[in-house]
Amino acid sequence: MTYKEINEKRNLEVQRFVNKLTRKVYEKFVNKRPCPVCESENNKAAFTKEGFDHVICLNCKMFFTPNFFKKTVLNDFYNGEYYNKTWQFKSKYDISLKFKRKYFTKIAKLIEKYKKPGSVLDIGCGTGDFLNVMKKRGWDTFGTELNSYARDFVKKKYNINTNNLDLEKFEPEKYDLISMSQLIEHIPNPKKLLLQAHRVLKNKGILFLAFPNRFGISIIIKGKNAGRFKGGEHINFFSKETITKLLNETGFKVKHTSSVKIDLYGLLRHLFKNIKKENNLKEITSQNKISIVEKKSVLKKIPGLLFYEILTPLCSKLVGIFGCGEDLIVIAEKK
Ligand SMILES: [Zn+2]
Repeated sequence: MTYKEINEKRNLEVQRFVNKLTRKVYEKFVNKRPCPVCESENNKAAFTKEGFDHVICLNCKMFFTPNFFKKTVLNDFYNGEYYNKTWQFKSKYDISLKFKRKYFTKIAKLIEKYKKPGSVLDIGCGTGDFLNVMKKRGWDTFGTELNSYARDFVKKKYNINTNNLDLEKFEPEKYDLISMSQLIEHIPNPKKLLLQAHRVLKNKGILFLAFPNRFGISIIIKGKNAGRFKGGEHINFFSKETITKLLNETGFKVKHTSSVKIDLYGLLRHLFKNIKKENNLKEITSQNKISIVEKKSVLKKIPGLLFYEILTPLCSKLVGIFGCGEDLIVIAEKK
């Protein structure tokens, strides 16, 4: 199964939640919430995607969806065929693993500026690649993950223990570090999550967050069409300002923020798409049949090594300087 096919599967799975007439998610699947940062009900509509309204809080400028999937629906979804296939796909391809390891090592070094190796809890650990990097650097590792395929994989491949429990079930003041990569954008009540992380961290413990940047380059260029907007899956879009506000209110002091990564391939594809449509389709008639041949795209001619090892890191540095990397990275200390 290719990534494209997995995405098609996701689209099919998502459609069953949306009323085709109103193009909004059926109310039976969702609950409502005020702004997850300041709790204001006062907001301005931006757009609707996959049945979910996306709004901007008029009080604190937080970008979010007021509707969110009920827990039972989400549990089904995260353990459904789409997520299982996604984790199978991600665990199979070592090319991305090589890049992931490089990236996680960078993150580990950054974290260790603020905390020497101790105990780490990775919430939503996926296939455990971050924990494995930390384990090799001398950290005592534990993870939580909702998807059972991913949990089995982590145990088998890295011999790292996990469970699927909520943070509320953990003992207080247990960990030196709590990490949450690509997690907080999924959470209906991020304030509650951060308060729980605060409780489970030891005194002066460190919280590491990585999540889609509200002002990431893909969102700036593609707007509503950015892959980061995923209906009921991604429901919080924090900026440096809104996450800092929420962390201050939940007992943390922000020590570091930066923006990283660029989806260069996706962006170039988006920018080239219109040009390609004009020039790249050639009609061939043979025996009354018309077949359309697509010329090799410009992107495919760029060698992978040059593209991923040189061009992408270079552009990633550049967008980082301007604060519009795809992901925001935050390190905060328990006050
Ligand atoms: Zn707000």
